[in-house]
Amino acid sequence: MSVKTLKYIKAKTSNEALNYKNNIRNSQFIAGGTDIMVHKIHGNKVFDCLIDLTGIIELQQISKENDFIKIGSCVCLSDLACDDLIKSEFPALSEAALSVASPVIRKSATLGGNLLCENRCIFYNQSEFWRKSAGYCLKCNGNICLATGGKKKCFAKHVSDTAPVLISMNALIDIENNEGKKIMKLEDIYSGNGIKPLLLEKNFVLKNILIPRRKNINTIFKKLRHRKTLEFTSLTSAVSIDKYNKIKIAIGGIAPKPVILNINSEIDKETIINETIKKTKTVNNDMFSRKYRKEILKVYIRKSLDELYK
Ligand SMILES: Cc1cc2nc3c(=O)[nH]c(=O)nc-3n(C[C@H](O)[C@H](O)[C@H](O)COP(=O)(O)OP(=O)(O)OC[C@H]3O[C@@H](n4cnc5c(N)ncnc54)[C@H](O)[C@@H]3O)c2cc1C
Ligand code: SF4
Repeated sequence: MSVKTLKYIKAKTSNEALNYKNNIRNSQFIAGGTDIMVHKIHGNKVFDCLIDLTGIIELQQISKENDFIKIGSCVCLSDLACDDLIKSEFPALSEAALSVASPVIRKSATLGGNLLCENRCIFYNQSEFWRKSAGYCLKCNGNICLATGGKKKCFAKHVSDTAPVLISMNALIDIENNEGKKIMKLEDIYSGNGIKPLLLEKNFVLKNILIPRRKNINTIFKKLRHRKTLEFTSLTSAVSIDKYNKIKIAIGGIAPKPVILNINSEIDKETIINETIKKTKTVNNDMFSRKYRKEILKVYIRKSLDELYK
C-alpha cells in the first residue's frame, strides 16, 4: 500500500515523521490525541491521515543538560507531574501538569500537545449540529465573531496550562522542520490570532522543551475553573521571580495568546496588578464572564506576589 493512502502511521524518528507529513496530503501529527481527536469528532478539523509521534523514543525523556532541564515533547503529563527532577526544581510545572483534565487523560496527553493544543471558545467547541444552528463564526469559516456580536477578529482563548508556567520560566523549544533544526523562545510561537494561533510553519516537529536552571526561578501557578477536574481553564496565571529579582508574569485562558509582562521587582504591587489588567484584553467567550475573570486575575496576581515574598 502506498503511504499516500494510509490513515494512521507511527513514526520512529522526527525526520521520518516530517517525511510522511511532506508526502501525505492533509495529514497531521498526533501525540496523546486528547485534543486533536475531539476536534476531529466535532468536525472542527478533518484529516485524512494521522502521523503518531509517540513511537519516537528520544521525545520521551526528561534529563539534565548543562544549564537546562530538557523535556521531550512526548512525555505525558502524568509522568511530567510525578518526575522527581521537575518536582524538586520546578514544582509549579508539576502543579500545572496535574491541573490538566483528569488522571486518565493525563496518562495519554503530552507536554508537546499541551503547548500546541487548539485555542477554544464556547461558540466553537461545540458539535457540528450546534455550530450550524447558531450560525458559523469566523473560526468555522463564517463571517462574524459570535462572542463579540459581530467583530471581524477571532478571540478564541489560548488554554494550555503548562505554557504560562513555562513562559514565566523563560523556557525555550527545540523544533525540527524542513529547513533543519532551530531553538526559539516558547513565548514567540503564539500569534494572538484565534483562528491560526501558532506562528510556526505547517510542517514541524516540536522535539524538546528546555528550561534554564541557573536563575533559581520561583513560580506561583493558579488556575480558575468550574470543577477541579476535567475542566479547561477560564484563567491561568504564572508569576515567577528569579535570583536577580526580575518578575515575569504569563496569563493564559483569557486571550488568544498568553499575556506576558516583564517587571522589575522594585515596582509596587498595585502598579503590577494594574499593568497586568491593562494589558489583558478579553471577551465573553467562556462560562465565566469577562468581568469576573478580570476581577479574579487581580486576586491571583496579588496572592501570587504575596506568596513569592513570604
Ligand atoms: C475532557 C478534556 C479536558 C481537558 N482539560 C484540559 C485542561 O484542563 N488544560 C489543558 O491545557 N488542556 C486540556 N485538555 C486538552 C488536552 O488534553 C491537553 O492539552 C493535552 O496536553 C494535549 O496533548 P496531546 O498529546 O493529547 O495532544 P494531541 O491531541 O495529540 O495534539 C494536539 C496538537 O498538537 C500537535 N502536536 C502534538 N505533539 C506535537 C509535536 N511533538 N510536534 C508537532 N506537533 C505536535 C498535534 O498535531 C495537534 O495539532 C483537555 C482535553 C479534554 C478531552
Ligand atoms: S472568538 Fe468569535 S470568531 Fe473566535 S471562535 Fe469565538 S465566536 Fe468564533
